[in-house]
Amino acid sequence: MRRLSLKTPAGSLEYSITHRPRVTKRLHMELDEEGGLVVVAPRHWSKTQIRTILSRNTYRIERFLAKARLHQLEPLLYSNGELHFYLGERYPLVFHPGAGRKVCIVFSENIIRAEGRQHQAKTVRAALQAWYQNQALKVFSERLQIVAGRADWVEGRVVPLKLRRMKRTWGNCSSHGVIKLNTHLIKAPLPVIDSVIAHELCHLQEMNHGRAFYALLERLNPNWRQDRLRLRSESKLYLQ
Ligand SMILES: [Zn+2]
Repeated sequence: MRRLSLKTPAGSLEYSITHRPRVTKRLHMELDEEGGLVVVAPRHWSKTQIRTILSRNTYRIERFLAKARLHQLEPLLYSNGELHFYLGERYPLVFHPGAGRKVCIVFSENIIRAEGRQHQAKTVRAALQAWYQNQALKVFSERLQIVAGRADWVEGRVVPLKLRRMKRTWGNCSSHGVIKLNTHLIKAPLPVIDSVIAHELCHLQEMNHGRAFYALLERLNPNWRQDRLRLRSESKLYLQ
């Protein structure tokens, strides 16, 4: 994509233009991999037209760029010292020599220790995923007990729990009453984990997101709106 440039009160603005079949009415902004501005414009708009709109909105563009760059994620490398999420906090991954051929994760004193003879990114990643999986099973089972204890419609029921690494969903509840939670949720803070569990527990009673469902959710977790917003805004951080 060709880089174009525009003079602004603050200096100059670099951008490139692209088109997408679905973008037919408005202009969209996004970042490329290097953090540069990409303008997605309807195909029939001319370069001059786009330029005029951009120059009238430089303040909004600067604000978009500042915010988007802040949220742009570096891909995880699984290197020594890299920070990884666990229960809403970030802890350093620290390599330690160990006798085993496989890397083993030990979490202590606010450090995620990766012990092993060799620390290739692939093996460290696999070890970390296995560790997350174990922690998730432990923590989610405990939290499920606690949150279910506040939901009178669950009394006396056994709620089977399954874990999966999912790309888009945090949890779901089958018509057979099996709750499935996203393993990545172990990276989120406890109140957020609880709020996803509360949501799914309400589905044991109300399958659809109707009024009755939200009345139930309101009772079980009056904070559900804030929790949902928080999870939405932080989801990219946890879904890696
Ligand atoms: Zn739902």
